[in-house]
Amino acid sequence: MEPNRIFKTVIVGRGLIGSAAARHLAKMQDGVALVGPTEPMDRAAHPGVFASHYDEGRMVRIVDPDPVWAETAKRSIDRYPEIAAESGQSFFTPSGYLGYGAVEAPSLTRSQENGQRLGAAISTLDTAEIRARYPFFSVPDDTRGLSETGTAGHVSPRGLVRAQAEAARRHGAELIDAEVRRIDGTRTGVTVETADGSLLKADRVLVAAGAFTELCGLSPRRLALRVFGRTVTLVRIDDEVGAALVGMPTVGHAGTGAYILPPIAYPDGHRYLKIGIGTTDDPEPDTAEALKDWFKSEGSQRDKVRFKAFLEDLIPVLAEARDWHTDSCAVTWTATGYPYIDFVDGDRIALAVGGNGKGAKSSDDWGWIAAHMVAKRDFDHPVTLDKLRLPQGL
Ligand SMILES: Cc1cc2nc3c(=O)[nH]c(=O)nc-3n(C[C@H](O)[C@H](O)[C@H](O)COP(=O)(O)OP(=O)(O)OC[C@H]3O[C@@H](n4cnc5c(N)ncnc54)[C@H](O)[C@@H]3O)c2cc1C
Repeated sequence: MEPNRIFKTVIVGRGLIGSAAARHLAKMQDGVALVGPTEPMDRAAHPGVFASHYDEGRMVRIVDPDPVWAETAKRSIDRYPEIAAESGQSFFTPSGYLGYGAVEAPSLTRSQENGQRLGAAISTLDTAEIRARYPFFSVPDDTRGLSETGTAGHVSPRGLVRAQAEAARRHGAELIDAEVRRIDGTRTGVTVETADGSLLKADRVLVAAGAFTELCGLSPRRLALRVFGRTVTLVRIDDEVGAALVGMPTVGHAGTGAYILPPIAYPDGHRYLKIGIGTTDDPEPDTAEALKDWFKSEGSQRDKVRFKAFLEDLIPVLAEARDWHTDSCAVTWTATGYPYIDFVDGDRIALAVGGNGKGAKSSDDWGWIAAHMVAKRDFDHPVTLDKLRLPQGL
């Protein structure tokens, strides 16, 4: 079958990492296509794939217990003004961040060290200072806080994908709204077959299809990715409760890994405060159909009860809120804890996959690295490609 279109590089997956890679690559070369479906209007009736960015809030911050994640988050956040200027779209709210936990919590100590090293605007707070600065939080005695301002807050992940894709388009990339069914390396390049039957040909392909990458068979090599369904609970914030929460930062709890976003406007016109906690009893869908079914579900109702209790304990004014609901999403774990950014078939097919539950905040930099790798450009980056390779023997 003759290809319908020929490109230099096709990027499969129009999500946070793929759209970032497309923006960077389109600045380096002509002939870039970004292929992937946009968000379905009707989730329940949608037969195709889903994404982990169908939401209005993702926490971003430099501080992180892992230096690689801290470094790539900083480099991504530093480029937000550039992305906004290149796309004409805004997506970032610098509401700040508060990490809190037991005084001896090692993850807070490591986060503080990494934040200091990278020059983030951080400060530590003792229990009295947390209570004075955020009177709506009820924290136990002997709580330690780590605050970051300026560079911390939340992005709209939908907005960031839109901005990256629009900037890529303005730099000459073609956006193709289609699901990919098959990718084949050939002697002269790579062919990409879409679900509507089109055949694209390219010198190289970068696969950034998130949780569906391996389940859709888009990698010629086994990746052993672990994909977990996740549940989030959202509570609708009316004007009265909202007034009590003015100045609320994004929040992370060192003990449980709970993350909380302050009230954010959603497309239905209401504001919602959101909590998520990764749990070991989250489901691990092992087929594309099972993952689609999870995305169509409302998540775990047991988590809803637990998360609501956690929130009401930390933010007592939420006991007055009446409208609580859940949503489902998925995270993709690699064996290394970092995304795999590597070639998987000679130097024709490459991957940029594995957000490990926090891929949004570093997504622009993962895309930057992937674009340089695929374009075969030399680059200088504090994180070497060695750290991002697929381990042997998966
Ligand atoms: C509940 C929840 C909360 C989170 N909170 C945070 C947070 O606060 N901060 C943070 O940094 N990170 C957070 N994350 C993680 C973050 O959202 C992910 O790491 C990030 O979305 C990963 O980006 P990605 O590009 O790999 O995947 P995605 O954003 O999912 O993009 C993958 C894309 O590939 C496309 N695709 C799939 N299959 C195909 C196919 N066959 N053909 C073509 N395209 C295909 C999809 O349509 C999608 O657009 C959270 C995740 C979840 C689930």
